[in-house]
Amino acid sequence: MSDRDDFKRTIVYGDNAVGHLRKNEIPAYPRNYELWYTYAAGFNHALNKTINEIIRQRGKITLAEVNKVYDQFIAPTRIGERIDEVGGRLSEEINGVSGMIESSMKTASNYTSSLGVARQALVGTRDTEAVDVIVGNLIEETRKTEATNRQLESQLAVSRRQIAELQESLEAIRYESLVDELTTLANRKHFDQSLERLIAEAQHTNVPFSVLFTDIDHFKRFNDTYGHQTGDQVLRLVALAVKQNIKGQDIACRYGGEEFAVLLPRTNLEQSAVIAEYIREAVFSKELIKRSTGEVLGRITISIGVSEWRRGDTGSSLVERADQSLYAAKRGGRNLVRTERHEDVIAAMRVA
Ligand code: GH3
Ligand code: MG
Ligand code: MG
Repeated sequence: MSDRDDFKRTIVYGDNAVGHLRKNEIPAYPRNYELWYTYAAGFNHALNKTINEIIRQRGKITLAEVNKVYDQFIAPTRIGERIDEVGGRLSEEINGVSGMIESSMKTASNYTSSLGVARQALVGTRDTEAVDVIVGNLIEETRKTEATNRQLESQLAVSRRQIAELQESLEAIRYESLVDELTTLANRKHFDQSLERLIAEAQHTNVPFSVLFTDIDHFKRFNDTYGHQTGDQVLRLVALAVKQNIKGQDIACRYGGEEFAVLLPRTNLEQSAVIAEYIREAVFSKELIKRSTGEVLGRITISIGVSEWRRGDTGSSLVERADQSLYAAKRGGRNLVRTERHEDVIAAMRVA
């Protein structure tokens, strides 16, 4: 995906967003713009559905409703804010636990001094009544200490549960921040991080790894014909075809709109081309049928470019060669796999 593509696509979303703001007479504050931009891009299905329903019923959406939709569908995905919230609650729990430790220490030291007092009193006395009083006091102190300890124990158990829940929330946040919502593949951020890690590993071990770049053929036409939502179903289908043809160590991600990238650790160019071929065939072999109507939509195809790590590669040089190979596959007629060793790619790289 070139910067130019990004530019064109996002400007359309932006124009669209401003159009909605104008039509509904909503002030164009960044927050409202963000909501309509998200709507125009169509990635957040629940949000689009809610807005469409309001507009269907009343023809227009009010600022109050916009705020509500924002809080419901956009604010919760703000990872930074959620981390702050979980962090805040964790630190409250930690404060609570350290308070408990302090009071447990105080209880223990009070009990020790009660024992000391009793010991001294017992040393000098033969009087059984006095001994009874001292023992009675000791029993009372022991009972109190036991009660306090039990209370602390149950408070600690509650804290332990709460901390475990907070740990789970953090884990979920971490997961979401690396996963693409529509396809559940890894997202771009995950890809970039993994690529850096694989480059560092390969520099150390000298074992190559490869990158596949996948782009759906004539997808714009498909969207224009069948609509964006059906297009999204196709994206899920392609994601599934990718997933089903890779192994545990491989990392598949949604690189951008209709582009997928796969990292294949410890796999050379030839082996990767075979995997790419499987993915291409898997997509091509499926006849698309619209679930709701049974309408036959035909087949879609994908083009794939493959490159292999070489010493000295940066993430972008490696991605660039996969991208060049992908474009060679497009030039070659689409529904094709091309590797960086194909003459077409080599020629294009020489000109560039
Ligand atoms: P080509 O064979 O050259 O790749 O043709 P193309 O039409 O696929 O061209 P290009 O890759 O430039 O077009 C990308 C299109 O993909 C534009 C947009 O309609 C569609 N698209 C991008 N992201 C999404 C998405 O998240 N959902 C849907 N439904 N469509 C998307
Ligand atoms: Mg594209
Ligand atoms: Mg395309």
